[in-house]
Amino acid sequence: SRQCGYCFFDKQMSINMSENIKDRLGLENDLVTAVKNNEFELYYQPKISCITQAVTGVEALIRWHHPTRGLVPPDDFISIAEDTGQILQLGNWVLDESMRQQREWHKAGLTIPVSINISAHQFNADDLMMNVSEMLVKHGCDPAMIELEITESMLLGNADKVNQTLHQLSAMGIKLALDDFGTGYSNLAYLQKYPLDILKIDRAFLGDQTRSMLMGTILDMGRVLGLKVVAEGVETKAQVNWLVENGCDQMQGFYYSQPLPVAGITDYLISYCTPDALKHKAA
Ligand code: C2E
Ligand code: MG
Ligand code: MG
Ligand code: MG
Repeated sequence: SRQCGYCFFDKQMSINMSENIKDRLGLENDLVTAVKNNEFELYYQPKISCITQAVTGVEALIRWHHPTRGLVPPDDFISIAEDTGQILQLGNWVLDESMRQQREWHKAGLTIPVSINISAHQFNADDLMMNVSEMLVKHGCDPAMIELEITESMLLGNADKVNQTLHQLSAMGIKLALDDFGTGYSNLAYLQKYPLDILKIDRAFLGDQTRSMLMGTILDMGRVLGLKVVAEGVETKAQVNWLVENGCDQMQGFYYSQPLPVAGITDYLISYCTPDALKHKAA
């Protein structure tokens, strides 16, 4: 704890708070150059079928190579970029780069769906549809190979607009996933109302017995609603066994792989590739 001479009021918490504010302002400034210099990279994490153990897709997860801080995780800068509006440019870059990569893999014989996280700002922007379709055309991507991940809070806006956006995306052939399900304002009505394809259950539901019971209920609900259910944050063999036994569709987590840079995930995809499917050996 610091001494400041004439002042005995130096609670660690207020120091931490002002450090955090300085940190945030620093990152906010640095983001301007980062966007200009393209200091970002997409990592990819595989999703695995509970039934066949095949790789069913990969999720693109952004990383920032900060010139002095090193690798900055998205939780440290996405919300800042949201506040400043830079997320629109950044989000467009993510669409561009992940679709380019999907197409490159396809041309190399690895046809794999790619999931892309969409921010609230992006989701509400009037040009989302145009940006998505432009990128699809630019890279010649099959829309069925693209999944967009949105979160529950994005469904809370103007219901007509949300409905229109989701229906337009869905009509393009894109798959829609509800990310971090269970952590937000979970209104079961919109699971039925909106054209969603996939529920991604937050990793908070993997844990003790009570959470497993809740997970079981969510799996049942997904089945009733005809949604594919993906369990996030799978870290242990015991969790894998439980999810397989309880009828989960897909799993994603460190048990299978950390998010990897392109070279690493490409090797991963190739090593689980059989003539007709991308099989996972750990079955
Ligand atoms: P998310 O979309 O829910 O992504 C899953 C996060 O969980 C990732 O963190 C991933 O690395 C982490 N994870 C995966 N498996 C495990 C596991 O077994 N255990 C644990 N403890 N964690 C696991 P990451 O990459 O740091 O991303 C954090 C969040 O940042 C994402 O959560 C997403 O909301 C956001 N994000 C990432 N990339 C983008 C992007 O390109 N655009 C936008 N708008 N948001 C992004
Ligand atoms: Mg996600
Ligand atoms: Mg998630
Ligand atoms: Mg998350």
